[in-house]
Amino acid sequence: MSLSQLARSICESPTLKLNETAALLREKGEPVIHLGGGEPKSKTPIDAIINCSSLLSTGEVKYTPADGIPALKKAIIHYTEEHYGRLVAPENVIASSGAKQSLMVFLHAVLDPKEEVIFPAPYWVSYPEMVKIAGGVPVAVTARDGGFQPTVDEMAEAVGPYTKAVILNSPNNPSGVVYSDEFVAGVVELCEKRNLYLVMDDTYNRLIFDGRVPSNCYRFTQVHNLDSSKLVVVNCVSKMYAMTGFRIGWAVGNRELIRAMANIQSQETSGPAAPSQWAAVGALNGVQSSIESLRLTLENNRNVMVKRLAAFPGVRVVKPGGTFYCFPDFSAYEKDSQTLSRLLLERVRVVTVPGREFGMEGHLRMSFCGTLKEITEGIERIQWALDPQAPNEIFLGDRKIVRNWR
Ligand code: PMP
Repeated sequence: MSLSQLARSICESPTLKLNETAALLREKGEPVIHLGGGEPKSKTPIDAIINCSSLLSTGEVKYTPADGIPALKKAIIHYTEEHYGRLVAPENVIASSGAKQSLMVFLHAVLDPKEEVIFPAPYWVSYPEMVKIAGGVPVAVTARDGGFQPTVDEMAEAVGPYTKAVILNSPNNPSGVVYSDEFVAGVVELCEKRNLYLVMDDTYNRLIFDGRVPSNCYRFTQVHNLDSSKLVVVNCVSKMYAMTGFRIGWAVGNRELIRAMANIQSQETSGPAAPSQWAAVGALNGVQSSIESLRLTLENNRNVMVKRLAAFPGVRVVKPGGTFYCFPDFSAYEKDSQTLSRLLLERVRVVTVPGREFGMEGHLRMSFCGTLKEITEGIERIQWALDPQAPNEIFLGDRKIVRNWR
């Protein structure tokens, strides 16, 4: 079989693969604790279900405009006005099959071969692969101080003649860090000075803790006419509304760019699935209390996870300001994050994601979107697996494991 160079260069999404591994092990009756997941446990908001089912019950489920049905665009316009204080036109909006597709059609719309896209490390696993799929070159910027947010100068140093775009994701997957206003403002200014696209991936925008208010990049722009601006804001219903399976995301940007993205999308998928679009309309226009209750649950889970990890000798943890991910440094135990993650799965059946996938070795991404029991028991198991002083045996479910290492 002959495959393209591109196909051979693209890796499978490690997080989706881990979901499969966890599901397979569970099916076999293994007592798996999945701390590698990327979706809230809560249910789809009822308004989304009602809207989606009423479309289904008509039996008229047809093609829609490739960039989204007018009702969804209207809901997105309302969302943008409410949460970003920006009144945008339907031509500034594209709805896609998840934030992932919005990002992908953006990259296809702007990148010529070998042009570069810059993003800070640690980064969401898909950015490098998506940039490569679009023929570009990913450029990750690692903070010299070893932290989770580089300086604006470090970002500026990465800008070269081939740079086309910058992507910022705050709060950040995998670190949970909320970038400072100074950093976001500095990057907005940098991009405007150097005429670069700036994508704000706001997938977790409202899942933030400790009384923070969601960040709004438009506050920092000097280009007030959106149609002259290269600032693009990406959002989705996947995480905030716990609707990962519906696959609805969107982008807001200048109309020339959005038209180009819509053209590409129309050839790729003819637009997102109609029932999902109607579900998203329901979620966006309906009762919003599910976001706050999810946010509160996650904040409580975050507190428990951070407390447990802070009490774990040798592990360094930065308190996440948002998302449902924590990115502790386990390098005191094992510098190779893939080895460590594999070992934890094999020995104590805990799923974590190796930091290497996010461009930062020695760390593991651990999700706190599950139950408190999963979080506490998962960390207990990890501690048992790594701490040579721990008792010799542990129960995983009703299975007794005896230490036969170290
Ligand atoms: N951006 C980030 C930072 C994400 O973590 C994810 C999902 N894991 C996405 C985008 C994609 O979201 P969606 O499921 O809506 O495609």
